[in-house]
Order: sequence, then C-alpha cells, then structure tokens
Amino acid sequence: MTISAITGYLESLAPLAYQESYDNAGLITGSGDWECRGILTTLDATEDVVGEAVRRGCNLVVAHHPIVFGGLKKITGRNYVERTVIRAIKEDVAIYAIHTNLDNVVAGGVNGRIAQKLGIRGGRSLLSRAGTLQKLFCFVPFEHLELVRGAIFSAGAGHIGGYSECSFGTEGLGTFKGGEGTTPFVGEPGSRHTEKEVRLEVILPSHLSRGVVQAMIAAHPYEEVAYDLVPLANTWDGVGSGLIGELPEPMEEKAFLSLIKKQFGVPVVRHTPLTGRPVSRVAVCGGAGSFLISNALSAGANFYITSDVKYHEFFDADGRLVIADIGHFESEQFTIDLLFEVLQEKFRNFAVLKSETKTNPINYF
Ligand SMILES: [Zn+2]
Repeated sequence: MTISAITGYLESLAPLAYQESYDNAGLITGSGDWECRGILTTLDATEDVVGEAVRRGCNLVVAHHPIVFGGLKKITGRNYVERTVIRAIKEDVAIYAIHTNLDNVVAGGVNGRIAQKLGIRGGRSLLSRAGTLQKLFCFVPFEHLELVRGAIFSAGAGHIGGYSECSFGTEGLGTFKGGEGTTPFVGEPGSRHTEKEVRLEVILPSHLSRGVVQAMIAAHPYEEVAYDLVPLANTWDGVGSGLIGELPEPMEEKAFLSLIKKQFGVPVVRHTPLTGRPVSRVAVCGGAGSFLISNALSAGANFYITSDVKYHEFFDADGRLVIADIGHFESEQFTIDLLFEVLQEKFRNFAVLKSETKTNPINYF
C-alpha cells in the first residue's frame, strides 16, 4: 500500500481544505509514492519519534503537529526541527501532519475525543468555519430523477443537521439542440428538443464536491450534463473550531475539576475562580484555545477546557464561566489514540503502532 493511499484516507476524514491559513498540514517529508511498511502515530514528530519509527519498522509517522511550521531556510541541524527533518530524510521516513484540519472536524476530531472522555453530548463547533458548504443544481429528465438523486446522496450530499437525503426538485421544461457530432439521449441533432426535466438541488460539503459531481454525471443519461455548483455563505456546526455540548447530568464544579484531573491524568489544573453554579454546558478546545474564550462565553458555557491561556486572558472569564487550562499536550494526548484507531480500523492486517516516546516538553514538579 502506498503512503498516499493512507494519507488520502486521512484526508477523507479531515480534508486539508479545513486547515487554518497559518497551518502546514499534509506530507512534510517523504513521498506519497513510497510503499508504506508501517505507521507510527504521535502528537509530535520529533527526532526521537523518527528514531522510534525506524526501530519499529515504520516508514510513515502520522503526527498531529507539523514539525515544519513556518518554513526552513537552512537545514544544518542547528535546532530540533532541522535535526528531525535531516533524520527523516536520511532514514527514508515520511512525516505526515494532520493538524488544524483534524481540530476543525468537530465530532470525529481532536475535540470530539476530548468531549467523549468527559461524557459531553451533542457536540457542535464553537466557531463554525465559513466556506464549507456548496449547493449543486442539476437538470435531470423526469424518468431518471431517482437514479441521479440516489447517486448524489450516496456520494455524501444532502445532509442537514441530523437529516440525510435532503433535496428539492422543481419540474420544468429543458431545451437543447445538439450540434454536429453529438448523439443526444433524446431528440435529433440539429433540431431543438424540449424535455420534461426536474431541477434538482442539494447541499453538500465543499470537500466532497468532486466526488458528488462525478457520481451525478455517471448516473445521468445525458451526453452533456447541465449543472451549477455554487458556494454558500451558510455555516455548518460540524466543521469549525472548538466544541460545545452538554453533560448528561449537571455536576458540582469541584467534582467536575476532579473528573478532568482523572480523565486527563493531569497533576494540576490552572483555573479561574469557581462560580458556585452547577456545570451543565461545557466548551472545549484541544491545544491553544484562548481565541475562543469569547465564543465560549456567548454560547453560555459553564466551563471552558483548553490550554496555553495567558495570565491576562484568565480575567476574561469575568465570573461568568470557569476557564480550565489543563496543558497543551494533556488536552491533545488522546489524538494519538484517535489516529491509531481510525487507521487500524481502516487498514486491518497492517502495522499501525502508537508512539511510546514521551514528547511533552513540559514537566510538573
Ligand atoms: Zn496542539
């Protein structure tokens, strides 16, 4: 199996188009054409992790954080980034990063896994991502409507919230005149034909548009299929930053802090003053999440669990919610399991391993 077959699968779950503009997700070293011998999942692709991959017979490291972020001007081994890249290239190890694109997939991503660990239900994004939805309009002869509609649904279009197979059809008359060399499905070339058609419209995630259009064309009887693919201003709470959801039962604040400590194995949680109110609505953002404090407040969260919160940012809680900083590595640690599980599930009988290298640079004393 090639490395691109594996990374292609990961991108079907977390499309590269979902990454933030500052990010560098994707293949960082190596080639998609290489035959993959084994996969090692990790949060950070450090030099030690590349060494571990070689030792354990893996030539693909799937990491959450991109080892190269802002570009490299020299590769002389002066710092850990350059040394990791040199080692990976020397040892023929491909490094692949699945970063903010995985953060932004709400249910199946980094934050969905954090929510699962705390029993948070009904997760939706704290800040929905724009540009993730499109509308497909196509014109189908009446008798072929169900065939084309079914093909479009099977390719992943037509989901709105908890509903699937959503579409709308308007009956009307289509006209066309085939030119020289055409073989129209109905009518004769050179004369205008009028056909009873349905204008079928369906919503779809932008990253699936190519597959949906291909499926539509394959199922459609016409030689030339008339369709319009239009970007939408609608947002979708299945893709975006952070997650907010509900606890099954309200909890007392201290009991919830104890649950966080237990589930994330953290010796200490930095948090703002407790409010005295029960915790029922909880917001989370794995990694650095200060940019979502105002979203957590306006969404009515009682608790916001994240990391890398600065001193002055803690003041933003303002007695309205509890900000809990549990540490960057700690908040994202289960991403290693998430990547391991999705890869092992998809590529059975293939060596998928979890890294045993401790990459968290932060210690507690
Ligand atoms: Zn992170």
